[in-house]
Amino acid sequence: AGGALVVGRFAPSPSGPLHFGSLVAALGSCLSARRQSGRWLLRIEDVDTPRTVAGAAEGILHTLERFGFEWDGPVVWQSTRTAAYREAFARLQAEGRVFGCACTRKEMADSALARDGTRRYPGTCRDGLPPGREARAWRLRVPPGRVTVEDGVQGEIEEDVGADVGDFVLLRADGLFAYQLAVVVDDAEAGVTEVVRGADLLDSTARQILLQRLLGYPTPAYAHLPVASNAAGEKLSKQTLARAVDDADPARVLVDALDFLGQAPPVGLAESGLAAVWAWARANWLLARVPQRRVIPVATYG
Ligand code: GLU
Repeated sequence: AGGALVVGRFAPSPSGPLHFGSLVAALGSCLSARRQSGRWLLRIEDVDTPRTVAGAAEGILHTLERFGFEWDGPVVWQSTRTAAYREAFARLQAEGRVFGCACTRKEMADSALARDGTRRYPGTCRDGLPPGREARAWRLRVPPGRVTVEDGVQGEIEEDVGADVGDFVLLRADGLFAYQLAVVVDDAEAGVTEVVRGADLLDSTARQILLQRLLGYPTPAYAHLPVASNAAGEKLSKQTLARAVDDADPARVLVDALDFLGQAPPVGLAESGLAAVWAWARANWLLARVPQRRVIPVATYG
């Protein structure tokens, strides 16, 4: 008793409809927070405007309501938060943590390191722009060393961001702030204490922890849920054209999501209706039951 308030969140990108994979992340993050009597926030990650599909955000909100999700407070839209991202970026820049980069995508794809099969930024502009070139994007000067995180589902995760990713982009050539910076600023401002999301975002976690440290923000607890894949092993996503979740029988789909998350819902639960599914889930959710896997194929929802 008397522990600090847990704050969780779900942060979908409005690049398509809510599919089974994103429903799983919504459900896991919500139940984890609710089971600890915490708050659960909703943020629409429309920072990447070229990838935003008109009407997708409204569709996601509508589907979440149909499934009986209830979030706390107003929905936060990243597209309205540019001033906060600019402030954080300026702080990093004032501390000498940021440098301008002239490299085009093509130049990086042609670099020797990229030919090794790595996607690491080779550091071309780290110590200054090549003569006659102008900065297009702005990158974080990544400090050396490994980042370790104890993930609530996946166990200990370790990454050397400098070696694996290199200096990553904070402000893109098209003038938009990068997802990595936006997430960190938004989670900190909202007081998020736990991030429960799909394991496809595991590789972003070390970058986000580095940014939290440099900006003086606390690091939340992390738990990365398995992501759903189709029979071919491809993650369900807008890119693989995953179907929108069918909201004709939300109780049934929620029970499928609980089953996917290892929660062993009792036989017949779906037939007892949406309210009963939520009551059972809120009372019985256990993160420890979530399978320690990054990908699980689902037959029905590809
Ligand atoms: N917007 C991201 C996505 O939909 C999720 C970001 C997060 O949960 O940190 O993949």
